[in-house]
Amino acid sequence: MSEKWLVGVDIGGTTIKSAFVDQEGEIIHKWEIPTNKNNKGYYIPSNIAKSINQTLNELGQSKNKIIGIGVGAPGPVDYKTGSIDVAVNLGWENLPLRDLLQDLTSLPVIVDNDANIAAMGEMWKGAGKESRNLLFVTLGTGIGGGIIINGEIIHGISGAGGEIGHITSIIDGGSPCNCGKTGCIETIASATGIVRLVTEELSSTHMPSKLRDLYDIDYPLSSELVFNLAGKGDELANKVIDKVTLYLGLALAHLTNGLNPEKIIIGGGVSKAGELLLLPLKEHFERFIFPRSLKGLELAIATLGNEAGVIGGAWLVKEKLLNQRKNENVYL
Ligand code: ZN
Repeated sequence: MSEKWLVGVDIGGTTIKSAFVDQEGEIIHKWEIPTNKNNKGYYIPSNIAKSINQTLNELGQSKNKIIGIGVGAPGPVDYKTGSIDVAVNLGWENLPLRDLLQDLTSLPVIVDNDANIAAMGEMWKGAGKESRNLLFVTLGTGIGGGIIINGEIIHGISGAGGEIGHITSIIDGGSPCNCGKTGCIETIASATGIVRLVTEELSSTHMPSKLRDLYDIDYPLSSELVFNLAGKGDELANKVIDKVTLYLGLALAHLTNGLNPEKIIIGGGVSKAGELLLLPLKEHFERFIFPRSLKGLELAIATLGNEAGVIGGAWLVKEKLLNQRKNENVYL
């Protein structure tokens, strides 16, 4: 087969996931390397370049086989220059990631935010398939988001478009968020937020719960456990899930009322709860929605798991380097 490959790279705090992907979006080969955060993340770009070279060698291929590299990085990205202002969990500050990777690999590189590339991955091959207008939200340790309208990711004027996690949900007395504000939806509906709500409930009420029994013996609580117990009828677990889905439903309804998307895709670790999350979320969401926006709208759980990022990175290469090469290109 002579068709050229796309490379997707997803830089996370613990591992860097990479893949060679064909032009139909199928993964040909994928691999992971640990994220070396030493020296303020200095080695990360060269480690990515080395691992691509090494994997090409292992597969008996040369760089001629590659069209380009699409990279997802944490934090807001200046998509015009491909540089990262600050990525706190990697130690990066003012890092010209695109230029560095282009120099190291001699291949064209496109950089975008990690949640944005995951949104593109889901649009291309996952739950958003065939939709050009979608909201993607990842509920993990924090909350990330990507907004795609007419097939284009919304970056905004400062690259902070799609920061769904920082929609304010509690106006007075909310919990502090990593962004410096208080009461963001991230402090409520992320995995950490859910556990925080449980501990708040345990200390402010006497409601009996399996969660209280476990907490009392120092058993580590997790959002997964809360959903499992909610499914088994635990009252306190259900009270917390009701609060989580109320605020998340409200935030997503606000976005939907403004954007009228076709799909809302929920990903990240918390989304593994499936229907236990989706059903109460839909109920609250529909209370706040402008009725016409419900027409043709689907709320769904993401289907690509942690492959969404590398597939989205590959999509960026296909869309921005291959299909729009001759057009004006905001990325290059
Ligand atoms: Zn915040």
